[in-house]
Amino acid sequence: MLHLLQPKKNLLLLPALLFMLLVPVIGGEVPVDTEYNDGPYIFYQGDSLEARWVCNGNAIITRHSSDDSIFPNTKCGKISTVPKIRHFGDEAEPAEFTDVPKIAALSDIHGQHEIFIRLLTAHGIIDQHGHWSWGNGHLVIVGDILDRGPRVMETLWFLYSLEAQANAAGGRVHVLLGNHEVMVLQGDLRYLHPKYEFVAKTLNTDYDELFSKKSVLGRWLRTKPVALKINDFLFVHGGIHPQMLELGLSFTDLNTTFQSGLDYSREAIDQDEGLDFLYGGRGPIWYRGYFPGEKNELNDLKPILAAFGVQRIVVGHTSMEVVSAFHGGRVLAVDSSIKRGETGEILIWEGGEFFRGTLTGERMLLGQ
Ligand code: ZN
Repeated sequence: MLHLLQPKKNLLLLPALLFMLLVPVIGGEVPVDTEYNDGPYIFYQGDSLEARWVCNGNAIITRHSSDDSIFPNTKCGKISTVPKIRHFGDEAEPAEFTDVPKIAALSDIHGQHEIFIRLLTAHGIIDQHGHWSWGNGHLVIVGDILDRGPRVMETLWFLYSLEAQANAAGGRVHVLLGNHEVMVLQGDLRYLHPKYEFVAKTLNTDYDELFSKKSVLGRWLRTKPVALKINDFLFVHGGIHPQMLELGLSFTDLNTTFQSGLDYSREAIDQDEGLDFLYGGRGPIWYRGYFPGEKNELNDLKPILAAFGVQRIVVGHTSMEVVSAFHGGRVLAVDSSIKRGETGEILIWEGGEFFRGTLTGERMLLGQ
């Protein structure tokens, strides 16, 4: 059942109205756009769910039973019936898979939802209706869905839904944590698109609270790994610095240790040697040293490949013009600058070969 809660709506509107009045005085740092639509941000409320939306610039709250099937979109309360809201505990997602026949990977979507969808459609990973159509293939999002661009929620809910469809078809969708997911979860909001500053103000909260442990997507993100192994490939947003191996973490412990720090304050992270490394510049979400001229550049990847028992490492984070191979094909870089909102590519591995997949659906053998 859907209920509109008028009193709360008015309460939420008040700060937004006050804010709109104040904007000219404080210099209009945040554009006020009454056309903004966003959400829903869904929160667990005891046995029910509360959805907070921004509709034409106004806050709306709807209540749902936890059994409701909600397909969240941004069309202002237009709710259709696809995936059921799933309930996530503290269980981490599995992060090791073998015998996977085909893999696609991209990263750094950063709110450019349209390009993301065009890439998946052009390569038959989804059909014209946006539904999974890649059978037992695995799609990997190598981090950085959040920040920068204006259509972040669309991508998050789309992936939330696609995961269930892929699972049902014997395939899989993997979402890896990037530095921008971690920044938002930890309250570092420097890279928000102005739309999301507006959304947070309109919903009378801080943006990171919209992804707190009380929210469906916040809890979902907290189950995501920082590193993933499929066949003999390792996927990680930034890269693995050899010093990380000195922490002596098993692959599983790398993910659980990283996840354990997601809700720590910066001070608490600083005081923990392992977390300080994992969340720092040489840690898996920030490191860029596989590329020429970057800080802490690395020439010998063998110890890392050996430690993880893999042949290749797939990374995002460091922007390229196109999907590219480095170190004789040992490193595959999939951040193809989708964040600029102009173009982008997807890495495809099928029949034992790597391809650059373009927006027009072309596949080009990846030169190594
Ligand atoms: Zn990044």
